[in-house]
Order: sequence, then structure tokens, then C-alpha cells
Amino acid sequence: MTSVKPKKYWGQHFLTDNSIAEKIVNSLNHYHNYKFVLEIGPGKGILTKYLLLNKNFTVYAVEIDECSVNYLVSELNIDEKKIIKGDFLKLNLNEIFNEQFAIIGNFPYNISSQILVKILKNKSMIPEVVGMFQKELAKRIVSLPGNKEYGTLSVLTQAWYKTEYLFTVNEKVFFPSPKVKSGVIRLQRIDKTDINYDEKLFTQIVKSAFNQRRKTLKNSLSNYNLPSFPNYKTIKDLMPLRAEQLSVEDFIEITMLISS
Ligand code: SAH
Repeated sequence: MTSVKPKKYWGQHFLTDNSIAEKIVNSLNHYHNYKFVLEIGPGKGILTKYLLLNKNFTVYAVEIDECSVNYLVSELNIDEKKIIKGDFLKLNLNEIFNEQFAIIGNFPYNISSQILVKILKNKSMIPEVVGMFQKELAKRIVSLPGNKEYGTLSVLTQAWYKTEYLFTVNEKVFFPSPKVKSGVIRLQRIDKTDINYDEKLFTQIVKSAFNQRRKTLKNSLSNYNLPSFPNYKTIKDLMPLRAEQLSVEDFIEITMLISS
């Protein structure tokens, strides 16, 4: 029998509770009717086995650990062709899928923000995500203006996805137990038809504003070419505020004014 010894450097904390695994898989609400689901880091396959029960989509998985890959093939009988042995962060998603797909996973904590950033880069292919993150990061992603947790990742994610915090998972249901609690969130893409602002500039502005989050926008965005104050109502109203007080729409508005 193949065994998989948990490895710390790959963030391996295996979920041991089947009912939680089933609940995570059932959180995909399949609203967009995609035909493929990609699981990141299946490990010993506790989510995978529930995913495979759903015949509405074909399941692929990407796993960096060869021991896990062997285990999934030999013990769970998972089709070898559907398991990509490698690093999700290095995958060229366009080469694997030529249509939309959802993403699911209990993400390895050490790279979970990089996973999110990659999802955002490939958002046109990814209509839905159900993911487990370290609780604190999960809360940051879904956080709204006015909250301490609200930051760059909240704005960049919410510009494209409706975000929902679904439930918290206790550290005791993993082997080995992580030091922190986990949170499961769902992202559902907002299908915008026309994007009338420069996305790259938007990302830069959001990052600059939150890099100096205690400063007013007038100061944190002083390097940008802002239209002069009194003529623009929006600018006048927003500049005395701090980044955490602005909504996604406010950041879009600023982006449009700066590039106009
Ligand atoms: N889904 C499983 C395992 C979660 S632990 C469960 O719920 O029990 C995280 C998994 O991600 C591990 O199997 C680890 O080997 C895998 N992993 C870590 N880094 C990865 C990467 N860069 N690309 C793909 N898989 C990765």
C-alpha cells in the first residue's frame, strides 16, 4: 500500500473529516455550467472522491507531490491522465483547458495568496472558485470597506468576483493539525460586459493606496497624475479619505479619472 507522509514544505495538512470534505465540494454551485473542475493539491484525495461523484463536470487535479499522485492512482483509482504532476503556480492553464473551468482546493497555506493572484490573472477562464485558506486570509479576501482586514486582495478580488465566506474549519480536523483555523470561501465571477478602465493601472493604484494605508489618498497617490482638485467632485470627495474607506467602484472611478 502506498503511503503519504505529510510534508511541511508543501503545506500538507490532510483533512480527515468526510462530512466537511463533502460540504466543501457541495459549495460549488455550478451556476456557470462549466464542464471542468481543477482541484489544486488533492493530497490523499478526500475532496477528489466527492468531486468524482458529480457527473456534471470532469475533474482534473494538479499535485506537486509524487507520493500523493501515486496514492491517488493506486488507492483511489483516479485516472492518471487527469492528474497533472507539478506546481500549480507554473502551469500554463491555456494549454490544459480550452474552455472555462472552476477551481477547488484546500490550498497549501504557504502559497495561497499566490494561488489567488494567479486565479485573478486567469479570471476570464475561471467563473467559480471554492477554496480553503488560512482563516485570516479568507476574511481579508471577502472583507468590505471600513474593516481592518479590507485591503489590496479584497479590492482586486471583488472587482471581478462576488465573494462569500462560507464557514470556518477547526484545526483539529487535519492531520497534522495546522496552527491556525481555516476558512472556506466561494468566488463567483461577475460577468462584466465592457470594461471601461485600464486594469493594470487599477491594480497599481489599489496597491499604492494600500501600501500606505494610514495616509490619505492625496498623499498615497501623489505620484499619479490626478486632475486638479476643485473641478472634479469625485476626486475632491475621495482624496481626504484613506484606502480602507473606498469601495471597488471608488477605485475604478479614480482609475478612470487618472487615465483620462
Ligand atoms: N486537499 C487535500 C490536501 C491539502 S494539503 C486535503 O484536503 O486533505 C495541500 C496539498 O497541496 C498537498 O497535497 C500538497 O502536496 C499540495 N501542493 C503544495 N504545493 C503545491 C503546488 N505548488 N502545486 C500543486 N499542489 C501543491
